[in-house]
Amino acid sequence: MSVVNYRKLLQKVSSICLLSLSCYVAAASKPFIDQLLNAADEQRSADPVRYADLMQQLRLAAAEMDEQQRDFLNFLTAYQEAYKDSYQSAEIKFKALMVPNKPVLIRFRAALTLSNVQMIRRQFLEAFSNLSFAMALMPDIDDVKWRNQAYLSAASIYSEAELYQESLDSLQLLDTTVLSPRDQCINQYLNLKSKHALGVAQTIPEIEAISAQCADAGEIMISQASNTHAAWYYLTNQSPKLALDYLHARLPEVEKTGYNRLLIDVYHLIAQAHVALSDYPGALAAIAKLEAAAKSLQNSRPVVAGLKLKALALAQEGNFQAAYTTHQQYSDAERAMRDEHSNRQLAYQLAKGELLKKNQQLKLMKEELRVIELENQLKKQQAERDSLYIGLLSFASILLVYITYRLVRRHRFYKLAAENDGLTGISNRHFFDLQLQKQVKRCKQQQKSLGVIVFDLDFFKLINDNYGHDVGDKALQATVRICNHFIRSGDIFGRIGGEEFAIALPDCQPDKVLMLAEICRDAIEQLDCSEFQSGLKLTASFGVSYSQISGYQTTELMRHADQALYLAKYNGRNRVESYDQMQPHPGRPLINTPLR
Ligand code: GH3
Ligand code: MG
Ligand code: MG
Repeated sequence: MSVVNYRKLLQKVSSICLLSLSCYVAAASKPFIDQLLNAADEQRSADPVRYADLMQQLRLAAAEMDEQQRDFLNFLTAYQEAYKDSYQSAEIKFKALMVPNKPVLIRFRAALTLSNVQMIRRQFLEAFSNLSFAMALMPDIDDVKWRNQAYLSAASIYSEAELYQESLDSLQLLDTTVLSPRDQCINQYLNLKSKHALGVAQTIPEIEAISAQCADAGEIMISQASNTHAAWYYLTNQSPKLALDYLHARLPEVEKTGYNRLLIDVYHLIAQAHVALSDYPGALAAIAKLEAAAKSLQNSRPVVAGLKLKALALAQEGNFQAAYTTHQQYSDAERAMRDEHSNRQLAYQLAKGELLKKNQQLKLMKEELRVIELENQLKKQQAERDSLYIGLLSFASILLVYITYRLVRRHRFYKLAAENDGLTGISNRHFFDLQLQKQVKRCKQQQKSLGVIVFDLDFFKLINDNYGHDVGDKALQATVRICNHFIRSGDIFGRIGGEEFAIALPDCQPDKVLMLAEICRDAIEQLDCSEFQSGLKLTASFGVSYSQISGYQTTELMRHADQALYLAKYNGRNRVESYDQMQPHPGRPLINTPLR
């Protein structure tokens, strides 16, 4: 039976059944319930009204269900709740389906759906850890349909987190021979988006083919989102007029979708095209529409970029007061966006690290047990040996000493791996935070001064772009090496982000903290990188905070140092700023200052 016929029959049966109780009782057999469950599953995102109707019927039949069917119903109910903003209840249901005694497919689907919901709710760490949970079950999932769903979900989550290479890697794993038209559209769109973000050029015909394919699959919103990439293409190829015409031709269709995330993208592009054509009133009109559509998307990329354009357009019109205010708004929104961006990246790293750490901690525990056991054996043997052959070492003892020595080394290795950053060897973010917390507590008890320095390499993306990722990695290692020369043994040095580092200085007065920051800044500027890349120069911007101003709270200390770092970037980079000096300067240049 075709899907359409099957649906029609089901609709008929179920509507008749709703009217007739006797029919319902007779029909609530296992195969019928299975059919209803599968139909609801299919209608989940396609037809919400029909879905709600089927769910109503399923709830009536709950008493007749076996355990597996009830799990399926719980899954569907959780889905319904998650998208109706009853997140807490949905989460409890999903989690209950992820326990080991549930069938693997339901565990897998629950984790995947929960991860998607959490991504939309910006709960990055939870989203990534549930994604890892689902991915770990992949070897037990035979059905290619579900495997494809997982790869598509992963790709879309990574894309949302701006982890574009990871998104492409997931798409690579799809079996495209069995994708539905809708999934094929999503696949191609995510591919387009990631490649665009990674700077891989795509032609207008390629982009339009994707847009057409999505339109055929009924995915109007994604079809229009693909079109924005064509407009980008025109803009970056110095054809703002073409971009504008292209966008205007599609604007009515875009506005009809009512999808704000798409709308703000399009208005931002229109504003950009107007600016490129020096039509500032046109730009401001587009930004006004952007702002109206941006309500719940305050710190998103197009909104932040729109504020920057607005400040520029206002300044060009001679309205400097408004330009200044808008520029301040831009700075705040940009910082919030950056924070969220690094939160996402950090969540991803943490979720990855969390898995690694769990494995390592497990290994560590086993190693520790074995070390203790062997040491005990060694002691016993030594006692026996001493009494038997004084002076004669048995082969077994030497072997045992050797094994113990190796185990102790391995034990150290696992400990190091769980606490240190693999590239630079200094503390990873997690371990840095732990150590900082300890020191803050101690300094508070003893009323000692403590300082925090946060620094970030300048224009590091350009270094990667110009010289490659390997050179970027070497530059990170060289930076850590040089700073390590100046850091005292009790200080804590950590890599807290990609090219972002922090130094905590317990028992250290503010002037010394500032001095160390200045020394490190100078040392990085003087670094000779010719060993691995001729012509490469590095600089970094530094932010500093102290317990005297920020108190004895790790979050405040870090937040203030980060704000000072932001000021250092704002004021031209390659400089040190301290949080206590962060006052607005009326004469500060507004635009054309390179910003992060
Ligand atoms: P700014 O001066 O404003 O800090 O500019 P930026 O280019 O340094 O800042 P942005 O945050 O845009 O770029 C940081 C770059 O650091 C992007 C990312 O590719 C790179 N990066 C992060 N982690 C690593 C890493 O482990 N190795 C290498 N080679 N690059 C990394
Ligand atoms: Mg940087
Ligand atoms: Mg950075």
